[in-house]
Amino acid sequence: MREIGHFIGGKHVAGTSGRTADVFNPATGEVQAKVSLASVSEIRAAVENAKQAQPKWAATNPQRRARVFMKFVDLLNQNMDELAEMLSKEHGKTVEDSKGDVIRGLEVCEFVIGIPHLSKGEFTEGAGPQIDMYSMRQPVGIGAGITPFNFPGMIPMWMFAPAIACGNAFILKPSERDPSLPMRLAELMIEAGLPAGILNVVNGDKAAVDAILTDPDIGAISFVGSTPIARYVYGTAAMNGKRAQCFGGAKNHMIIMPDADLDQAVNALMGAGYGSAGERCMAVSVAVPVGEETANRLVEKLIPKIESLRIGPYTDEKADMGPVVTKEAHARINGLINRGVEEGAKLLVDGRGFKLQGYENGYFVGGTLFDHVTPEMDIYKQEIFGPVLSVVRAHNYEEALDLPMKHEYGNGVAIYTRDGDAARDFASRINIGMIGINVPIPVPLAYHSFGGWKASSFGDLNQHGTDSIKFWTKTKTITARWPSGIKDGAEFVMPTMK
Ligand code: NAD
Repeated sequence: MREIGHFIGGKHVAGTSGRTADVFNPATGEVQAKVSLASVSEIRAAVENAKQAQPKWAATNPQRRARVFMKFVDLLNQNMDELAEMLSKEHGKTVEDSKGDVIRGLEVCEFVIGIPHLSKGEFTEGAGPQIDMYSMRQPVGIGAGITPFNFPGMIPMWMFAPAIACGNAFILKPSERDPSLPMRLAELMIEAGLPAGILNVVNGDKAAVDAILTDPDIGAISFVGSTPIARYVYGTAAMNGKRAQCFGGAKNHMIIMPDADLDQAVNALMGAGYGSAGERCMAVSVAVPVGEETANRLVEKLIPKIESLRIGPYTDEKADMGPVVTKEAHARINGLINRGVEEGAKLLVDGRGFKLQGYENGYFVGGTLFDHVTPEMDIYKQEIFGPVLSVVRAHNYEEALDLPMKHEYGNGVAIYTRDGDAARDFASRINIGMIGINVPIPVPLAYHSFGGWKASSFGDLNQHGTDSIKFWTKTKTITARWPSGIKDGAEFVMPTMK
């Protein structure tokens, strides 16, 4: 059995805690590796290692730091097939989708190649008599990232690319479900020229996370995962005096106005609802057609498409989606479908009991569609994180707008319409972080920033974009006077810029 340890000081090290977790192949249900779960002392060792390496890295000029990312981007491209397959094998998503996962992270690495420009400070000449004032951005020191299973390429890179480019050392605690790709990324960073100790990967579960949250030498924590854990990480990090950005779950709506191009909307819903088996934080899980006629036509067009979804293991190049990640996820999703039926929603396509010949032990759930879902139902309130789409019918635009506005989550939302005025009004009034106008999965590109509102995000600065440079650096502001004013003697009055 393959054992996955940790990556500390530029090399693989075996775990010493004696605790491991199984890493499954979700398509077959087989255990394919054991991953070590770090103890407090293993986290401490990784932090000590990072602490030794960080000052020299911070003192390396930003152009040289950028060059590591130039090489790293090159290596990601050269190794793309291997990386995507490694990811698919543990996550279950299709290989093409895994490439998308890696490429979205690669794009953040491309963005941080601009670090010499991105991290420049501000300067005011003559802020007062002979006084210049300037600010510089200095690395936090040691940052940590705690990441979810669903994007094991993109999300670690969202975090470590800007953190490291800014001159920090970084401790990555990836999801214990699919740890191989993050470990490989760390190897490639070393191959790209990163000094040992600047990117350490420590595998683990709650014990490792708690050790990170209370470690006195870690200054900043980035978290992405489910909302209860995001809330916990945010609170605990803050109590321990650390800055934190914590991103949680989602329930993304797509509003379909009566004037929308319905075929376009249906295709968008298929990709956004069922791609990656619905295991994306930006997946659309609620469709809100406006008006009975729109609803009837939408549902009519969706049913045959959902019934003909091609579901398969990642080795099936033609598959639209793969299995869900674990047996527990499989049971939870099936349980929620049962709950929807009990609650009175109309189950139009039933994905329960889906079996694939030759993969009977895989965690497959068929595409599922509910109609006549209402806001009181659990299947509407909860994040299902599976291939289940709920249709909530709205009579008019205001009623449709009200649904995502009142929902607990606020990650993403989309509107399909040909009416520019409705789209503008929607973008302006909605209380959600990322909006798509005729775009189903509005994930911002690397040079903009990613982040939801409400229970989808705790903290104030988003992932990537210029927000990330602020998050991973501290501002120092210097007020300097050379040298004549000092000769005049002491000043006892509070200095002001009269
Ligand atoms: P999760 O919350 O179970 O795990 C995320 C991380 O937290 C993992 O590294 C895990 O080891 C750790 N963890 C789990 N339980 C913990 C505990 N009790 N204490 C401390 N740490 C703990 O999430 P997941 O199942 O891996 O990922 C799916 C979730 O992530 C979904 O809710 C999805 O919406 C969300 N997500 C959000 C975004 C976003 O940007 N908002 C992006 C991707 C995924």
